[in-house]
Amino acid sequence: LNEELIQSSKMAALGKLAAGVAHEVNNPLAVIREKAGWMRDLLEEEDVKASPNFQEFGDAVDKIEHHVERAGKVVHRMLGFARRMEPVCNDLYINDVLKQTSAFLDNEIRFRNIQLIWELAQDLPTIQSDAAQIQQVFLNLLNNAIDAIDRNGNITVSTGYEDESDMVHISIRDDGPGMDKEVQRRIFDPFFTTKRVGEGTGLGLSISYSIINKLGGIIRFDSEVGHGTEFTILLPVKHHDRKE
Ligand code: ADP
Repeated sequence: LNEELIQSSKMAALGKLAAGVAHEVNNPLAVIREKAGWMRDLLEEEDVKASPNFQEFGDAVDKIEHHVERAGKVVHRMLGFARRMEPVCNDLYINDVLKQTSAFLDNEIRFRNIQLIWELAQDLPTIQSDAAQIQQVFLNLLNNAIDAIDRNGNITVSTGYEDESDMVHISIRDDGPGMDKEVQRRIFDPFFTTKRVGEGTGLGLSISYSIINKLGGIIRFDSEVGHGTEFTILLPVKHHDRKE
């Protein structure tokens, strides 16, 4: 539990930092943009046009406007990212969401001679949750299982319902190489990856962690070197807004 708390507060801190930076940068950008506009107007004045530095001055104004525009786009993307993190909940039948999502990876799975085995509970209740975000998490976990196996292996996806907690669970088990303790300790850290440059960003599991946390769920795993890895996600049947 302690580890979970540390991890979710790390991600929350990262999100807040990004939103905070975006807002803080926006204000000075607005001032620079306004002053650049004033300088551009000056370029129309006869005495400025007559100045020996007119050309240089004009080029400088172009550069300022161009780079303010660039910085503005970065800020816009950061704010958009923060907003996309907010869940949009609907009634979902989780088995359907999983089946639809795995279809994206059908070719890859066949190409690598991996068997995808389904053990889906048929009496699941619908849950109030965000389908797109669950898809993103499931894709991350499936992709990791595929990468771990590389070629020739099995991935088992199972679902079920837990009465006591009123939660639906999804588990994704692979018979890949598993993870040693050192890797296990760090997998949810942003930017931690054991994959080659260009193949892994190290963001999949940290993003998955914060998504599941926001949806009021729990993500955990069990892994043993030489045997494989199992990730389990628990999601509440009813959506409750998490208070920070
Ligand atoms: P990325 O996939 O870009 O490396 P992730 O955050 O999704 O980033 O995963 C971090 C690391 O966790 C991976 O690089 C890998 O070492 C380990 N990992 C994740 N899933 C598995 C798995 N199913 N089997 C073995 N290792 C895994």
